[in-house]
Amino acid sequence: MTLPREILPADGRFGCGPSKIRPEQLAALAGPGAVLMGTSHRQAPIKNLVGQVRMGLSDLLRLPDGYEIILGNGGSTAFWDAAAFGLIERRAQNLVFGEFGGKFAAAAAAPWLDAPDVRKADAGTRTVAEAVEGVDVYAWPHNETSTGVAASISRVAGDEGALTVIDATSAAGGINVAVSQTDVYYFAPQKNLGSDGGLWFAAVSPAAIERIERVAASGRYIPEFLSLKNALDNSRLNQTLNTPAVATLVLLDKQLEWINGNGGLGWAAARTAESSQALYQWAESSPVANPFVADPADRSPVVVTIDFDETVDAAAVAASLRANGIVDTEPYRKLGRNQLRIATFVSIEPDDVRQLIKAIDYTMEGMRG
Ligand SMILES: *Cc1c(COP(=O)(O)O)cnc(C)c1O
Repeated sequence: MTLPREILPADGRFGCGPSKIRPEQLAALAGPGAVLMGTSHRQAPIKNLVGQVRMGLSDLLRLPDGYEIILGNGGSTAFWDAAAFGLIERRAQNLVFGEFGGKFAAAAAAPWLDAPDVRKADAGTRTVAEAVEGVDVYAWPHNETSTGVAASISRVAGDEGALTVIDATSAAGGINVAVSQTDVYYFAPQKNLGSDGGLWFAAVSPAAIERIERVAASGRYIPEFLSLKNALDNSRLNQTLNTPAVATLVLLDKQLEWINGNGGLGWAAARTAESSQALYQWAESSPVANPFVADPADRSPVVVTIDFDETVDAAAVAASLRANGIVDTEPYRKLGRNQLRIATFVSIEPDDVRQLIKAIDYTMEGMRG
């Protein structure tokens, strides 16, 4: 089925990561960024770029006094292991309401730690953290990308010194947050931040810095690549332990300039809310579709999951959209639902989301014959 031109989005990328990179960012790689590509990460030009990215993230997240942006290689997945080595002192509480929360819980089950207190909820719902004696890290995703559930972020009043550690991989730059309610707000840049993968970033509080330094000095074995103390020390010098992807930094720098220049996180959050609301409202009024996340308060503004009834083959719809250049609307592979999952990250134009809705309607109409 060929979709009429007038209902095609201008840009057909709706994936949840890697996600749409704006043409202006890509142009920067060939333009101002070209002189940086292929140059030493130990020299001033790349260190200045890292410094500018750290500054841009500090502005975006309105970092409270004493917080710092640190970074390292390996993406959010590496950060989970780094946290097991260098952030969790004895025991974590992990909220698991999807794939990514589950992966951190698995990393937190390291043999040198006490077994984590794992609190699971069915896909499409969520759990909340609860203070438990002896837990020193409370961890959950701000946005569970596998299901489209967004959680609220507020500090857990647990034991003194317990840290609130939030996976913001798909939230940072698209959902509002008070970072003061967290000790570690970490993410990779290939989602809302519209860059490429490979790096992790974290906004860390003074309490988290103290924890990182204390665990590093405790004599625990910590591989150098996964050492948060090493990342902290290197980040303060605007560098990473080993070679970073320079292109990822250039793309990220452009995105931060774009978001901050347009009004920052408030602007970005309004934009993702507009796009996601268009989809949720459409699904709610559709006779064959429904938002997968039943509680409107839990519905993500950046990852929209829509279930279809048995009269619609969602996989066939996604395949037909793909054949028309509208890509990555397939659901999270392990969720196994008759569903479309659509990113409404800040880079995605709300007008393109409205076009996508028309394209889905047209496709379903055509399939009914
Ligand atoms: C994508 C994603 C990750 C994994 O990020 P990588 O950089 O690929 O390791 C982790 N957590 C969440 C919430 C994500 O959306």
